[in-house]
Amino acid sequence: MHNYVTARKVRASMGTLGVLGLELVQMDTAPTTAYLQIYTEKRCRANCLFCAQAQGSQADITHIARGMYVPVDLDEVVKRLCMAFEKGYLLRACIQTELYDEWWEDTLYLIKSIRKVSDIPISLSVFPLSDKHYRELKIVGVNEVVIPLDACTPPLFDKIKGKSAGGPYSWEKHIDGIRRAAVFFEKVGTHLIIGLGETDEEAVWIIDLLKKINANPALFSYTYVNGTQLEIPERNETISIKHYRTVQLARYLITEGIANFSDMRFVDGVLCDFGASKEAILEIIEDGCAFQTTGCSECNRPMANETFCRIFNFPRRPDNKEIIGIKKELACIQP
Ligand code: SF4
Repeated sequence: MHNYVTARKVRASMGTLGVLGLELVQMDTAPTTAYLQIYTEKRCRANCLFCAQAQGSQADITHIARGMYVPVDLDEVVKRLCMAFEKGYLLRACIQTELYDEWWEDTLYLIKSIRKVSDIPISLSVFPLSDKHYRELKIVGVNEVVIPLDACTPPLFDKIKGKSAGGPYSWEKHIDGIRRAAVFFEKVGTHLIIGLGETDEEAVWIIDLLKKINANPALFSYTYVNGTQLEIPERNETISIKHYRTVQLARYLITEGIANFSDMRFVDGVLCDFGASKEAILEIIEDGCAFQTTGCSECNRPMANETFCRIFNFPRRPDNKEIIGIKKELACIQP
């Protein structure tokens, strides 16, 4: 039975509330997408070890990575979302789901509430669904579906969100869910969390595979949330940022059709040749686009994984000073 009490609220990121005029938030760069999460006080039935909402987590459930998603009145958010889209302040609405008894009814309720008043493009981030569910989502007005793999390899997936983590998910079903979603939606995406222990080679391998099945990978940097179950991998900060930048650059080359996995060379999992000329690589680095937030169109996720001292995904084109910093971060692996 649908719980209309829970369906009357929605969680929204602080940046989103700032753009909607529901909170006074000082922002370096405002989000171009409204980041929303289905409202429930229940923990998720899945158990992704990095996630604040997971059944075994002790974390505050309002957190997604660095972002705080606070419960607010759903009708008020929808009304303001419509105005913000009309004025061009927001270009997309992104809805994150969670696995609990009423998730489907609550998700449909939110999507339909938005669609009643606005044509804003909607992305839904969700676990793999049946074809029937995909069809219904398409009918109610979802434009893009994102099925987060999060981990780059089958063993990492199993450890972090699969059977070994006590969760219901499997790599095979996620890949299958991504492939099937592509039958219903023009654009299908996934999220990859970089920094969970994968190598450059493993990250680039999955990006290449996703390209082949027409799925768009959005890169996230692993961010520890207090109270979650995943121990922070031992990592040297320089290697970590170097790894992130390498994967960003390789992703750009692959998604733009400039090079693919088989063109690149790796030594002990570390990328040592991007499979493109030095001039081309330098031009791409200086352009800066490769280091901007990736994912659905108009998704800039400002400060989702970042601090002012360490930007992984630039929510806008990096400036000259930032390009110099990126070059330094990549210095030891430039061809
Ligand atoms: S890429 Fe951005 S808009 Fe798309 S699902 Fe992920 S967070 Fe939402």
